[in-house]
Amino acid sequence: MGTTDNTSSVLIATLRSFLRASSPDAVAAAMAAAVRALGGDVASAAERPGGSIPVDISFGVGEPQLPVATGPALARLERILPGLVEDGRVAVGRIHRAAYLQTSATSDPLTGLTNRRLAMRVLSRLAVGDTVMFVDLDFFKKVNDTLGHEAGDGVLRSFGRSLQAVARAGDTVARLGGEEFLLLLPRTGIDGALAAAERLRTQWAATRPQPVTFSAGVVTVAHDGGISALRQADQALYRAKQAGRDRVEVA
Ligand code: GH3
Ligand code: MG
Ligand code: MG
Repeated sequence: MGTTDNTSSVLIATLRSFLRASSPDAVAAAMAAAVRALGGDVASAAERPGGSIPVDISFGVGEPQLPVATGPALARLERILPGLVEDGRVAVGRIHRAAYLQTSATSDPLTGLTNRRLAMRVLSRLAVGDTVMFVDLDFFKKVNDTLGHEAGDGVLRSFGRSLQAVARAGDTVARLGGEEFLLLLPRTGIDGALAAAERLRTQWAATRPQPVTFSAGVVTVAHDGGISALRQADQALYRAKQAGRDRVEVA
Protein backbone atom coordinates (compact mmCIF):
# COMPACT_ATOMS: atom_id res chain seq x y z
CA MET A 1 0.00 0.00 0.00
CA GLY A 2 1.34 3.44 -0.89
CA THR A 3 1.96 6.16 1.68
CA THR A 4 -1.13 8.12 0.59
CA ASP A 5 -3.35 5.04 1.02
CA ASN A 6 -1.76 4.35 4.38
CA THR A 7 -2.25 7.96 5.50
CA SER A 8 -5.92 7.85 4.48
CA SER A 9 -6.58 4.59 6.28
CA VAL A 10 -4.86 5.87 9.44
CA LEU A 11 -6.99 9.02 9.27
CA ILE A 12 -10.22 7.05 8.86
CA ALA A 13 -9.33 4.66 11.69
CA THR A 14 -8.47 7.59 13.96
CA LEU A 15 -11.69 9.48 13.20
CA ARG A 16 -13.65 6.28 13.89
CA SER A 17 -11.87 5.96 17.24
CA PHE A 18 -12.72 9.61 18.02
CA LEU A 19 -16.39 8.94 17.21
CA ARG A 20 -16.52 5.92 19.50
CA ALA A 21 -14.40 7.36 22.32
CA SER A 22 -16.19 7.66 25.66
CA SER A 23 -13.31 9.30 27.55
CA PRO A 24 -10.59 11.87 26.82
CA ASP A 25 -8.10 9.03 27.51
CA ALA A 26 -9.47 7.11 24.54
CA VAL A 27 -9.13 10.20 22.31
CA ALA A 28 -5.53 10.76 23.44
CA ALA A 29 -4.71 7.08 22.91
CA ALA A 30 -6.17 7.14 19.37
CA MET A 31 -4.18 10.29 18.61
CA ALA A 32 -0.92 8.78 19.87
CA ALA A 33 -1.60 5.62 17.84
CA ALA A 34 -2.18 7.76 14.74
CA VAL A 35 1.12 9.61 15.21
CA ARG A 36 2.96 6.31 15.49
CA ALA A 37 1.14 4.76 12.53
CA LEU A 38 2.21 7.78 10.46
CA GLY A 39 5.87 7.19 11.29
CA GLY A 40 6.31 9.50 14.26
CA ASP A 41 6.48 9.07 18.00
CA VAL A 42 5.13 10.81 21.09
CA ALA A 43 7.22 12.46 23.80
CA SER A 44 6.49 14.40 26.96
CA ALA A 45 6.69 18.15 26.28
CA ALA A 46 8.70 18.51 29.50
CA GLU A 47 11.57 16.63 27.83
CA ARG A 48 11.77 19.33 25.12
CA PRO A 49 12.25 16.68 22.43
CA GLY A 50 14.03 17.56 19.18
CA GLY A 51 12.05 17.27 15.91
CA SER A 52 8.81 17.87 17.74
CA ILE A 53 5.72 19.52 16.33
CA PRO A 54 4.51 22.23 18.75
CA VAL A 55 0.99 20.93 19.26
CA ASP A 56 -0.12 19.35 22.54
CA ILE A 57 -1.86 16.04 21.84
CA SER A 58 -2.55 15.07 25.47
CA PHE A 59 -6.16 16.39 25.36
CA GLY A 60 -5.77 17.25 29.02
CA VAL A 61 -4.89 13.67 30.00
CA GLY A 62 -1.70 13.71 32.09
CA GLU A 63 1.29 15.82 31.07
CA PRO A 64 1.40 17.70 27.72
CA GLN A 65 2.56 15.41 24.90
CA LEU A 66 4.19 16.40 21.61
CA PRO A 67 4.46 14.43 18.38
CA VAL A 68 8.07 13.90 17.22
CA ALA A 69 9.29 12.82 13.79
CA THR A 70 12.04 13.27 11.21
CA GLY A 71 12.21 13.34 7.41
CA PRO A 72 9.08 12.53 5.39
CA ALA A 73 7.16 11.48 8.51
CA LEU A 74 7.71 14.98 9.95
CA ALA A 75 6.37 16.61 6.77
CA ARG A 76 3.38 14.21 6.75
CA LEU A 77 2.53 14.88 10.40
CA GLU A 78 2.89 18.65 10.01
CA ARG A 79 0.37 18.50 7.18
CA ILE A 80 -2.16 16.20 8.87
CA LEU A 81 -1.97 16.93 12.58
CA PRO A 82 -3.62 20.37 12.86
CA GLY A 83 -6.91 19.08 11.42
CA LEU A 84 -6.74 15.81 13.33
CA VAL A 85 -6.05 17.55 16.64
CA GLU A 86 -9.04 19.81 15.99
CA ASP A 87 -11.20 16.70 15.39
CA GLY A 88 -9.89 15.24 18.65
CA ARG A 89 -10.84 18.42 20.50
CA VAL A 90 -14.35 18.21 19.05
CA ALA A 91 -14.58 14.62 20.31
CA VAL A 92 -13.37 15.60 23.81
CA GLY A 93 -15.89 18.49 23.89
CA ARG A 94 -18.67 16.06 22.98
CA ILE A 95 -17.54 13.65 25.74
CA HIS A 96 -17.53 16.44 28.37
CA ARG A 97 -20.97 17.64 27.30
CA ALA A 98 -22.38 14.10 27.47
CA ALA A 99 -20.93 13.65 30.98
CA TYR A 100 -22.41 16.97 32.08
CA LEU A 101 -25.85 16.06 30.72
CA GLN A 102 -25.66 12.63 32.32
CA THR A 103 -24.88 14.21 35.71
CA SER A 104 -27.56 16.89 35.46
CA ALA A 105 -30.19 14.36 34.38
CA THR A 106 -29.56 12.08 37.33
CA SER A 107 -28.36 14.20 40.24
CA ASP A 108 -30.01 16.69 42.56
CA PRO A 109 -28.40 20.12 42.06
CA LEU A 110 -28.63 21.22 45.72
CA THR A 111 -27.10 18.14 47.37
CA GLY A 112 -25.41 16.26 44.52
CA LEU A 113 -27.38 13.17 45.57
CA THR A 114 -29.24 10.90 43.15
CA ASN A 115 -32.33 12.77 41.95
CA ARG A 116 -35.92 11.62 41.95
CA ARG A 117 -35.78 10.45 38.34
CA LEU A 118 -32.88 8.05 38.87
CA ALA A 119 -34.14 7.04 42.33
CA MET A 120 -37.40 5.82 40.78
CA ARG A 121 -35.46 3.79 38.24
CA VAL A 122 -33.29 2.21 40.96
CA LEU A 123 -36.39 1.62 43.09
CA SER A 124 -38.19 -0.20 40.28
CA ARG A 125 -35.21 -2.54 39.93
CA LEU A 126 -34.93 -3.52 43.61
CA ALA A 127 -35.26 -7.20 44.44
CA VAL A 128 -37.26 -9.03 47.09
CA GLY A 129 -35.42 -8.65 50.40
CA ASP A 130 -33.85 -5.26 49.60
CA THR A 131 -34.87 -2.44 51.92
CA VAL A 132 -36.25 1.06 51.34
CA MET A 133 -35.90 3.84 53.91
CA PHE A 134 -37.94 7.00 53.37
CA VAL A 135 -36.54 9.85 55.46
CA ASP A 136 -38.11 13.26 56.12
CA LEU A 137 -36.75 16.09 58.26
CA ASP A 138 -38.96 17.11 61.17
CA PHE A 139 -40.50 20.60 61.26
CA PHE A 140 -38.10 21.66 58.53
CA LYS A 141 -40.36 24.52 57.52
CA LYS A 142 -39.46 26.18 60.85
CA VAL A 143 -35.80 26.39 59.79
CA ASN A 144 -36.80 28.30 56.67
CA ASP A 145 -39.27 30.46 58.56
CA THR A 146 -36.92 31.40 61.38
CA LEU A 147 -33.46 31.37 59.75
CA GLY A 148 -34.22 31.82 56.08
CA HIS A 149 -34.17 29.69 52.96
CA GLU A 150 -30.35 29.81 52.67
CA ALA A 151 -29.95 28.26 56.12
CA GLY A 152 -32.58 25.69 55.12
CA ASP A 153 -30.54 24.81 52.05
CA GLY A 154 -27.46 24.39 54.26
CA VAL A 155 -29.35 21.94 56.47
CA LEU A 156 -30.46 19.94 53.42
CA ARG A 157 -26.90 19.78 52.06
CA SER A 158 -25.55 18.77 55.43
CA PHE A 159 -28.18 16.07 55.84
CA GLY A 160 -27.28 14.74 52.39
CA ARG A 161 -23.66 14.42 53.51
CA SER A 162 -24.72 12.53 56.64
CA LEU A 163 -26.75 10.10 54.54
CA GLN A 164 -23.78 9.56 52.26
CA ALA A 165 -21.53 8.98 55.25
CA VAL A 166 -23.67 6.11 56.52
CA ALA A 167 -24.40 4.59 53.11
CA ARG A 168 -22.29 1.69 51.87
CA ALA A 169 -21.04 0.76 48.42
CA GLY A 170 -24.05 -0.27 46.34
CA ASP A 171 -26.56 1.77 48.38
CA THR A 172 -28.41 4.64 46.70
CA VAL A 173 -28.87 7.94 48.51
CA ALA A 174 -31.44 10.17 46.87
CA ARG A 175 -33.25 13.44 47.45
CA LEU A 176 -36.81 13.12 46.21
CA GLY A 177 -37.46 16.83 46.66
CA GLY A 178 -37.95 19.28 49.53
CA GLU A 179 -36.71 17.67 52.75
CA GLU A 180 -37.50 14.12 51.63
CA PHE A 181 -34.75 11.59 51.09
CA LEU A 182 -34.48 7.93 50.19
CA LEU A 183 -31.92 5.37 51.22
CA LEU A 184 -32.09 2.23 49.09
CA LEU A 185 -30.28 -0.71 50.62
CA PRO A 186 -29.80 -3.74 48.40
CA ARG A 187 -29.31 -7.14 50.08
CA THR A 188 -30.15 -5.59 53.44
CA GLY A 189 -33.01 -6.65 55.72
CA ILE A 190 -34.89 -4.65 58.35
CA ASP A 191 -32.19 -5.19 60.99
CA GLY A 192 -29.50 -3.82 58.70
CA ALA A 193 -31.68 -0.87 57.76
CA LEU A 194 -32.42 -0.06 61.41
CA ALA A 195 -28.69 -0.20 62.11
CA ALA A 196 -28.14 2.24 59.22
CA ALA A 197 -30.84 4.52 60.67
CA GLU A 198 -29.07 4.43 64.03
CA ARG A 199 -25.73 5.30 62.39
CA LEU A 200 -27.53 8.15 60.63
CA ARG A 201 -28.94 9.42 63.92
CA THR A 202 -25.47 9.47 65.51
CA GLN A 203 -23.80 10.99 62.45
CA TRP A 204 -26.46 13.67 62.06
CA ALA A 205 -26.46 14.58 65.78
CA ALA A 206 -22.69 15.14 65.54
CA THR A 207 -22.73 17.26 62.37
CA ARG A 208 -26.09 19.03 61.99
CA PRO A 209 -25.89 22.81 61.71
CA GLN A 210 -29.32 23.18 63.39
CA PRO A 211 -31.09 21.02 66.00
CA VAL A 212 -33.32 19.38 63.38
CA THR A 213 -34.38 15.72 63.77
CA PHE A 214 -35.61 13.26 61.18
CA SER A 215 -38.28 10.60 60.93
CA ALA A 216 -38.15 7.54 58.71
CA GLY A 217 -40.28 4.73 57.37
CA VAL A 218 -38.60 1.43 56.57
CA VAL A 219 -39.90 -1.48 54.51
CA THR A 220 -38.41 -4.56 52.92
CA VAL A 221 -39.28 -5.06 49.25
CA ALA A 222 -41.78 -7.88 48.67
CA HIS A 223 -42.99 -9.50 45.43
CA ASP A 224 -44.98 -6.38 44.50
CA GLY A 225 -41.68 -4.53 43.99
CA GLY A 226 -39.87 -1.35 44.97
CA ILE A 227 -42.45 1.24 43.90
CA SER A 228 -45.05 -0.43 46.11
CA ALA A 229 -42.45 -0.60 48.90
CA LEU A 230 -42.00 3.17 48.63
CA ARG A 231 -45.74 3.66 49.19
CA GLN A 232 -45.57 1.48 52.31
CA ALA A 233 -42.44 3.28 53.52
CA ASP A 234 -44.32 6.57 53.08
CA GLN A 235 -47.17 5.22 55.24
CA ALA A 236 -44.69 4.07 57.90
CA LEU A 237 -43.09 7.52 57.79
CA TYR A 238 -46.51 9.08 58.30
CA ARG A 239 -46.98 6.90 61.42
CA ALA A 240 -43.55 8.01 62.69
CA LYS A 241 -44.70 11.63 62.33
CA GLN A 242 -48.02 10.91 64.07
CA ALA A 243 -46.22 9.13 66.91
CA GLY A 244 -44.21 12.25 67.72
CA ARG A 245 -41.39 12.42 65.09
CA ASP A 246 -37.64 11.78 65.66
CA ARG A 247 -38.19 8.04 65.18
CA VAL A 248 -38.14 5.18 62.70
CA GLU A 249 -41.22 3.05 61.94
CA VAL A 250 -41.15 -0.30 60.20
CA ALA A 251 -43.96 -1.01 57.72
P1 GH3 B 1 -42.96 17.58 59.15
O1 GH3 B 1 -42.25 17.32 60.42
O2 GH3 B 1 -44.41 17.24 59.25
O3 GH3 B 1 -42.31 16.91 58.00
O4 GH3 B 1 -42.91 19.14 58.93
P2 GH3 B 1 -42.04 19.97 57.88
O5 GH3 B 1 -42.06 21.38 58.26
O6 GH3 B 1 -40.70 19.33 57.76
O7 GH3 B 1 -42.80 19.66 56.54
P3 GH3 B 1 -43.56 20.60 55.53
O8 GH3 B 1 -43.93 19.70 54.38
O9 GH3 B 1 -44.64 21.34 56.19
O10 GH3 B 1 -42.49 21.66 55.03
C1 GH3 B 1 -41.46 21.34 54.19
C2 GH3 B 1 -40.74 22.60 53.88
O11 GH3 B 1 -39.62 22.37 53.06
C3 GH3 B 1 -41.59 23.61 53.15
C4 GH3 B 1 -40.72 24.11 52.02
O12 GH3 B 1 -40.68 25.52 51.99
C5 GH3 B 1 -39.37 23.57 52.34
N1 GH3 B 1 -38.55 23.28 51.19
C6 GH3 B 1 -38.84 22.49 50.12
N2 GH3 B 1 -37.79 22.47 49.26
C7 GH3 B 1 -36.82 23.26 49.78
C8 GH3 B 1 -35.51 23.65 49.35
O13 GH3 B 1 -35.00 23.24 48.30
N3 GH3 B 1 -34.80 24.48 50.16
C9 GH3 B 1 -35.31 24.93 51.32
N4 GH3 B 1 -34.56 25.75 52.05
N5 GH3 B 1 -36.54 24.61 51.74
C10 GH3 B 1 -37.29 23.78 50.99
MG1 MG C 1 -40.62 17.35 56.97
MG1 MG D 1 -41.89 16.36 53.70
